Amino acid sequence: MTRGSSDNDREGTVPVRTPEHSVGSPEGSGGPPAHPFDDHALQPLSALQHLRFCERRWALVHLEGVWAENRFTMEGKQLHATVHEASTENRPGLRLARSLRIRSLYYGLIGCADIVEFHRCDPPPGPGQAIRLEGSTAWWRPVPVEYKRGKRRRDQCYDIQLCAQVLCLEEMLEVAIPEGVLYQGKIRRRVVVPMDDQLRRETVTLIRRLHALVKAQATPLPTYDRRCESCSLFDQCLPRGIGRAGRVDEWLKWQVQETGEDP
Ligand code: SF4
Repeated sequence: MTRGSSDNDREGTVPVRTPEHSVGSPEGSGGPPAHPFDDHALQPLSALQHLRFCERRWALVHLEGVWAENRFTMEGKQLHATVHEASTENRPGLRLARSLRIRSLYYGLIGCADIVEFHRCDPPPGPGQAIRLEGSTAWWRPVPVEYKRGKRRRDQCYDIQLCAQVLCLEEMLEVAIPEGVLYQGKIRRRVVVPMDDQLRRETVTLIRRLHALVKAQATPLPTYDRRCESCSLFDQCLPRGIGRAGRVDEWLKWQVQETGEDP
């Protein structure tokens, strides 16, 4: 996938967009330009999760087209398939949109939100805090809900993916979204994740890194550590071999030492 204009090609050119920036156009307000990315330069939201886990994993999946399932990825897919079956649902004071296509031309992302809940606000909140929905005179506050198989992770993979969804929705709906929800499928538990400044900055930093790596089109060498033991790409990645050796000639030497045979 190629990049947009040359202004986007420098790492660090995507500034943090505050919720205030997201409500209405920042143009003319001294803020950053509204749409620095073209449609064809958008990157999948799901890439952020791979990238946060391991840059080599992201490159294997998104640059080289390598994919392998393990028990964890299969269970995650089954959970998402359940979410994606329906499209909309109305409940008292609540509307649900399932499998909602989202994108940000500002951050250069495209993807799908598992569920976006719209909570009716009564009384109406302040400007930029809620939106009108078709066929309703009420005000509604959007909350994205991301389904995950397991617990919230310490490396913030899930929080960052959820925050990226929030950034997309804030841009699309022109509304501030102060929190999202991770739904832990295995134990059926909702965890509210505040969209604070630190999470937003970490997410934007990762988005910058994503676009820089897309531009570089290079797959990093592996570094073998405990993440590798749960990685579905372990066999394709060969982290013990390539990672320990570093260079191809050294890897060949290592392979001979380890196995006593030429690779
Ligand atoms: S096996 Fe390890 S180094 Fe290789 S992609 Fe997975 S986490 Fe990254």
